[in-house]
Amino acid sequence: MNEKGNLSINSENFLPIIKKWLYTDKDIFVRELVSNACDAVTKLQKISLMGEASIPENEKLEIHVVLNQDLQTLQIIDNGIGMTADEIKKYINQIAFSGATDFLAKFQEKAEQENEIIGHFGLGFYSAFMVANEVEIDTLSYQAGAAGAKWICQGGIEYEMEGGTRETRGTTITLHLGEDGKEFLEEATLYTALRKYCSFMPVPIFVDIIKEPTEEETAAEKKEANTLHVSAEEAETLTKEDALEKLEAKKAEEAEEPKPLNDTTPLWQKQPKDCTDEEYKAFYHKVFFDMNDPLFWIHLNMDYPFRLKGILFFPKLVEHMDVVEGQIKLYSNQVYIADNIKEVVPEFLLLLKGVLDCPDMPLNVSRSALQNDGYVEKMNTYITKKVADKLTQLFKNDRSTYEGFWDDIGIFIKYGCMREEKFYDKVKDALLLKTTDDVYETLSQYLEKNKEKHENKLFFVSDENLQAQYIRLFQEQGLEAAILSTSIDKPFVSFLEYKNSGVKLQRIDADIADTLQKKENDEQTDAQKQADEFTNTRMEALFRGLLENDSLKVNVETLKAENISAMILLSESSRRMMEMMESYGSAADFKGMFSDVKPEETLVLNRSNGLVKHLLNMSEKEEKKEDVDLLCHHIYDLALMSHRPLTSKEMTSFIDRSNTLLEKLASFESNH
Ligand code: ADP
Repeated sequence: MNEKGNLSINSENFLPIIKKWLYTDKDIFVRELVSNACDAVTKLQKISLMGEASIPENEKLEIHVVLNQDLQTLQIIDNGIGMTADEIKKYINQIAFSGATDFLAKFQEKAEQENEIIGHFGLGFYSAFMVANEVEIDTLSYQAGAAGAKWICQGGIEYEMEGGTRETRGTTITLHLGEDGKEFLEEATLYTALRKYCSFMPVPIFVDIIKEPTEEETAAEKKEANTLHVSAEEAETLTKEDALEKLEAKKAEEAEEPKPLNDTTPLWQKQPKDCTDEEYKAFYHKVFFDMNDPLFWIHLNMDYPFRLKGILFFPKLVEHMDVVEGQIKLYSNQVYIADNIKEVVPEFLLLLKGVLDCPDMPLNVSRSALQNDGYVEKMNTYITKKVADKLTQLFKNDRSTYEGFWDDIGIFIKYGCMREEKFYDKVKDALLLKTTDDVYETLSQYLEKNKEKHENKLFFVSDENLQAQYIRLFQEQGLEAAILSTSIDKPFVSFLEYKNSGVKLQRIDADIADTLQKKENDEQTDAQKQADEFTNTRMEALFRGLLENDSLKVNVETLKAENISAMILLSESSRRMMEMMESYGSAADFKGMFSDVKPEETLVLNRSNGLVKHLLNMSEKEEKKEDVDLLCHHIYDLALMSHRPLTSKEMTSFIDRSNTLLEKLASFESNH
């Protein structure tokens, strides 16, 4: 006898909400229905292990997804435990209705916050109505003597139940795809969704597409079928159906064993000791579509006190890209949940690529609730420790390999240190600095090595091109600086300083005159010192006047590098202040407060340079005032150019002045 009924719990409110909930991820019904089928099979396996069900020896437990483009149906067929009519009533009709009420309440609260809900509320089955007008369940329970049952529901409101048609154990879910689900009639759309959610589900999934062949296909097939026949007469009389039948038979003969869409035992489920490097690499290429090999990986495998399995890969950076983009895929019992859920994975790990399978994670709660969940906290601590351990082991046991990776992993580690105190504490001794001598040193190695020349100071380069001149100077003096030139290094410099009190970090163009002076300076007599003071004051007055810059400091020094006429130094503290203001960008009010702050700039004139020697001479004798002015301007511009790019105005006057100077030189030459 047929039974009819109404799906109680305000279905009128309920379905539109389900639809809205799933609107952005309509394809989620694929995950829900196929994972239900997987569960049904897994449950059967468990029951059979307990001796309460028997699975015929030659029966393979599997799932078939059948798309029939003519009938516009999509079927998910399993040979799992099946359901009795009573179970349908209990599990489907009552829509785990307790859960639904809960869901409704929560959803309404969160409705505005997109993607708030990660998991599902025991309502997964109903996601079918996202895409289908009508849904049918045809099922036969594993229980001895069970009668088959069928459930048909239109629009998710009224259902009908009758006897089932299945003769073998299991469940067939048939979706009559409606307007909203039309896209899933496309083979490609269906495959995309299946690959996204089901690639690692634990039961083999096979896909069958049934469609009427196009005319061309029919013609081609007929032609092919014709080549099969022995006699010409037979070919003449062959009907389309016969030919196709023969072709099918031939294909079936030739066909290899069909391959499931999914990998039922993904690498992360195996014991690390059973996995080869090749397997890890192949898995990485396949899952992340990255042609490069990963640098190394961490296989997480934890059973107690909570279950967590996964593999985290350290990717090679894409060259010339300062932005790092990772991807952490979250699974629950091999069912894909989502990518990059920052409430679950420690944020800094999102720069890596990897898979995490957390079957114990409470996915049926909102993200904000997850964030405060003790489970997530414990998991984070565990993962952070594992990653830090791997890094420090590599650093200790295979330093040269670790150094080879540094350019790729440095960004990740620095970011991790700044985001996560616990991580910093563990890896701080394995932080490397790449120096201008092209070696990798820890901070303490750098400080130790350079302590004679500058104690407790770390010099760094923030732009290798712009600061090339300064680097050259450094190198000529046998000094080295750390290269901290990526965008993460700006905050990292302050972070390092904060964490290592007593150590001063200075950019290579900061107050380095001390470091670069020739030793003889120290052995000057008092008279010489006085003379130098005098020269400094005179030159400062000269430059200030010419450049109309009253805050400019000028120092005449004896530098080792004779080919450099002058250089510009910026005080570290005032430069940082400028940078901070820049980073506030258009915050006009803030800028206004500091509008008269200019970086303290020092022009160092190099007494050992030929040009400067002439200039000092000429200015002292007060000869050729006009030439002295030209030279001063020019020397300043040269120093400026090796400090930063000239503005267009500065460049124009530099070019004009170069012409004037060269003309003077040429006329002098031709007159002598
Ligand atoms: P959930 O899977 O979260 O429990 P669903 O709404 O997806 O919620 O399913 C409700 C219940 O219906 C399942 O718990 C299961 O008992 C039953 N069910 C759904 N699909 C199947 C199936 N293919 N085979 C057997 N039982 C099923």
